[in-house]
Amino acid sequence: MIQRVFPLSARSLSAVMAITAGLALAGCGGSGEPETEAPLETTVKETPPSPQAEHANVNTSRLLEADREPGQWMSHGRTYSEQRFSPLTEINRETVGELSLAWHQDLDTNRGQEATPLVIDGVMYLTTAWSKVKAYDAATGEELWAYDPQVPGEWAVHACCDVVNRGLAAWNGKLYLGTLDGRLVALDAETGEEVWSKFTIDRSKPYTITGAPRIVKGKVIIGNGGAEFGVRGYVTAYDAETGDIDWRFYTVPGDPAKGFENDAMAIAAQTWNGEWWKLGGGGTVWDSMAYDPELDLLYIGVGNGSPWNQAFRSPGGGDNLFLSSIVALDPDNGDYVWHFQTTPGETWDFTATQQIIVATLEIEGAPRKVVMQAPKNGFFYVIDAETGEFISANNFTHVNWATGIDPETGRPVENPQARFDKTGEPFVVVPGPGGAHSWHPMSYNPQTGLVYIPVNISGFPYAPDPDFEPEPRGFNNGVNFAAAELPADPEVKAAVKATVAGRLVAWDPVAQKEVWGVPYPGAGNGGTLTTAGGLVFEGTKYGEFAAYDAATGDKLWSMDAQTGIVAAPVTYEIDGEQYVAVLVGWGGVEALAPGELAAIGATTPNYSRILVFKIGGTDSLPPKPQLAEKRLAPPPLTASAEDVEEGRYLYGRYCGVCHGDAVHSAGVLPDLRYSTIPHDEEQFANVVLGGALSEKGMVSFNSVLDEESLEKLRAYIIARANEDQEIYGQ
Ligand code: CA
Repeated sequence: MIQRVFPLSARSLSAVMAITAGLALAGCGGSGEPETEAPLETTVKETPPSPQAEHANVNTSRLLEADREPGQWMSHGRTYSEQRFSPLTEINRETVGELSLAWHQDLDTNRGQEATPLVIDGVMYLTTAWSKVKAYDAATGEELWAYDPQVPGEWAVHACCDVVNRGLAAWNGKLYLGTLDGRLVALDAETGEEVWSKFTIDRSKPYTITGAPRIVKGKVIIGNGGAEFGVRGYVTAYDAETGDIDWRFYTVPGDPAKGFENDAMAIAAQTWNGEWWKLGGGGTVWDSMAYDPELDLLYIGVGNGSPWNQAFRSPGGGDNLFLSSIVALDPDNGDYVWHFQTTPGETWDFTATQQIIVATLEIEGAPRKVVMQAPKNGFFYVIDAETGEFISANNFTHVNWATGIDPETGRPVENPQARFDKTGEPFVVVPGPGGAHSWHPMSYNPQTGLVYIPVNISGFPYAPDPDFEPEPRGFNNGVNFAAAELPADPEVKAAVKATVAGRLVAWDPVAQKEVWGVPYPGAGNGGTLTTAGGLVFEGTKYGEFAAYDAATGDKLWSMDAQTGIVAAPVTYEIDGEQYVAVLVGWGGVEALAPGELAAIGATTPNYSRILVFKIGGTDSLPPKPQLAEKRLAPPPLTASAEDVEEGRYLYGRYCGVCHGDAVHSAGVLPDLRYSTIPHDEEQFANVVLGGALSEKGMVSFNSVLDEESLEKLRAYIIARANEDQEIYGQ
């Protein structure tokens, strides 16, 4: 059954919604939140380019027939199906051994680099951290232009997962960028100049954009993030030429007293309890979308609940639609068509924002168009693309939150111990909030029939936060991060570290089983690309960029990228030569929040670059700098044990998500154990309360901390530094 909640069939519901479309479109969000939203500002700086644009001349027919131009990479997942499969074959099993660097460029920011470049008619367009954009000659590496949207540094505090950006969309001479601070910007692809810019969010709320826009039928579709901080998720469609808002679809219901935007929200509200709208509810669409032109359906991947802990968000439970769901929408008007929920009653940060791939598989002897997803919860789903009917699922790595998936309904069979509540002991749930698979793109090769998934292996001790209350700062999710902290005891620490790993998994989606796998020492490795040359490319957090035989997993080629890789590679062709390109530069949430666990296998620090390879390339990287580690001895601990313990709680709530679990940085942001700032009372107050480093993203926390709590926080940092110095001599 496709509808577990909706009494109407998908198509009849569509018809009902068409009748109420006037309501849904009025104010593009009806009575949800628009009255509190900042005005949608438009700046038009120049006339839009002619329909026959010379640069980024992408249109519907080129996108629909992308396979006729295999040398291009015109949209985020190369084609609307988001398979990340390239038909190019010059670089193949036999020739890949001769692959070498053709050109490289250093980037101007050393934060996480997560973007998939576009390559259109010989020009490469990419985004970097802080939502910056660059254009290069894709054959020579010559920089053509650069654009910086000047994201305010203080917006970084709203980003759960680093100041990253995952890419652009291209259409009719323009490029489209979502900025960290919630703007959708159209750029002239020839010059990099702004054509128009819109705020897509209520700027009084902690929304961010890190995902790539998609373009369907001349509309730019963009979502957002923020479900760690109490927002309500939605996607919006804008006219690509004018930037005018076309439709908006919320993913979770708002305040019932204000009326629902559409029938889908009214019915979804029946699956919620309490006053969830006061907490935001979550369900942000922060990464994946796909489109099927035959069915004319837009698929969006919906995120976790806000706050995470369902006992606070929706007391008494409920499925909480459309959290953790794939939702199919009509791209013309944003009407709901169907949904499939992967984690009903989500409480572990199990998003379904992971990549959605559309493909035709042979199921029980007949071709069937499906959508496939490997969401955070660790199960691989195959769903009917037209109806949303559940076809099959199986876990692609070890999980303990569920014992399996009901073959009839597609619902998980939960392990009751995993569902922590408002009180109780921590339970180590596998996978943890990092997910068994996160945003790192997977790829599907129709020739091998395999999906190549960058898998994370790790758990997380979920414990309720008894002091939970909604507030505008901090990682505030009804989960006690201090209770989850990695203990200093070397034996316990070693045992926990031994449970963390990564794996490149080649998954048969029909048989629902692993065909081959490559083990990695740590979690959080790069996205994948697969090609008709019989190859899979993947970078790792420890800086290896490698090509594997797509059928067997044999490693055929690799190089030292000198820095960790999380982004996915692309491939393209210019003048008969095939290139492979990948952004390098370690970062993202995997490099920040897990602290010492993140550092397993990591290459630090971050040297952000774009690396481009071809057969017989003659470029080379400069020698890798050897950095001497400077570890500043901490001042002696004078605070009471009680103050240190209170400081531990404050650190877990406000600091750890960026500066690392248990005050152990994994190398991207400053390690507070060895920083002069927390060692000095005055400097610490200047930064944490005074906002002295706001421009770098370290904002003032004076809305949630005062001088007294600050001193407890500082005491905990000094205690941790002393503890590690004593045990490890650091
Ligand atoms: Ca999340």
